[in-house]
Amino acid sequence: MTLFSAVQPAPPDAILGLTEQFRADPNPRKVNLGVGVYQNEQGVLPLLRSVAAAERKLAAQPQAKGYLAIDGLPTYDADVKELVFGAGSPLLADGRVVTVQALGGTGALKIGADFLRQVSPDARVLISNPSWENHQALFTRAGFTVAKYRYYDAEAKGVDVAGMLADLDAAAPGTIVVLHACCHNPTGYDLTPEQWQRVIDVVVERDLTAFLDMAYQGFSAGIEEDGAVVRAFAERVPSFFVSTSFSKSFSLYGERVGGLSIVCADADEAARVLSQVKIVIRTNYSNPPTHGAALVETVLADPELRADWVTELGEMRDRIKAMRSALVAGLADAGVTRDMSYITDQVGMFSFSGLTKEQMVRLRTEFGVYGTDTGRICVAALNEGNVGYVSASIAAVLD
Ligand code: PMP
Repeated sequence: MTLFSAVQPAPPDAILGLTEQFRADPNPRKVNLGVGVYQNEQGVLPLLRSVAAAERKLAAQPQAKGYLAIDGLPTYDADVKELVFGAGSPLLADGRVVTVQALGGTGALKIGADFLRQVSPDARVLISNPSWENHQALFTRAGFTVAKYRYYDAEAKGVDVAGMLADLDAAAPGTIVVLHACCHNPTGYDLTPEQWQRVIDVVVERDLTAFLDMAYQGFSAGIEEDGAVVRAFAERVPSFFVSTSFSKSFSLYGERVGGLSIVCADADEAARVLSQVKIVIRTNYSNPPTHGAALVETVLADPELRADWVTELGEMRDRIKAMRSALVAGLADAGVTRDMSYITDQVGMFSFSGLTKEQMVRLRTEFGVYGTDTGRICVAALNEGNVGYVSASIAAVLD
């Protein structure tokens, strides 16, 4: 008997396991559409021009690496607030928003979950069905019971708005509802502004705790446009959470840059909330790392770099959209007669292709095209060089 002799092997991570399988695949035409990472037209992870310029700026004035404050770089936190809530937000003027630097979107969700466990220990958590797979695990680990609200309508290829509203309406007051602010992962289907208003109606009426996960701000229509959801909540909901990730929008996956924002009733409440959130951070990792936040802050604080970043984000967004159209056209060229135009209705990095698990397995084993068993493919990994092959491969498994 050893301390660990009863430890069972955990199941492999579905998506990372797929990448391992992809690496081992000898097929020279193989394409990895499994992992949610943006690749450029050359099929490589981009280093953004604006980020490279910020790297040079920082390298020209090397700094000692002291500890940051528990809640992170103050100028960075202020910039996150402005991106998320809009510079003119009355909430910011009133000091109602607490924003702390976090280790990517995941870190922001985890700080929020741990803090919520402290203030609402008996609340249940509702996530969308389906959702980013870590939502369930992360909130469960934080001590919550996690259930699902209806979201994807496989028949209609869209959001089951009536089902979603009914499930939220049936939730007990205080239930924590995790909502994808934009670019829903994995389906690619978002709510319209009118549908968001109906969700907000229920959140207010049922006194639910909304947790907006915004991992893709700027990938649907633009920074401002995608932030409109947060502003709609800000107008009507007295307290809610927003997690921000810059992994995708700055192509800074490995630097772990994100933020957690908590809207409070007033500045006094915000100060008390911040003091408790700092304890959550302090007892987890003490304070966040310096470099990624310094890069983002350098880009956002320099008008030229910021403008270039906005352009680059637009280029990524437009390229993904072009690849959606290319995929729909490629499928038609490859002889698919059924209507696949829903692929261009979806937004963000992913497409719920509508393929079954069996078809996804065939796609992988016979063609070396890797997506998840749920039928999710990462459209941001398509390019002019592989979209024809991917289309032909999907056509072959569809019949
Ligand atoms: N939320 C959603 C919906 C995501 O898709 C992701 C990343 N795939 C995250 C959060 C986590 O982001 P990060 O990599 O910055 O931790």
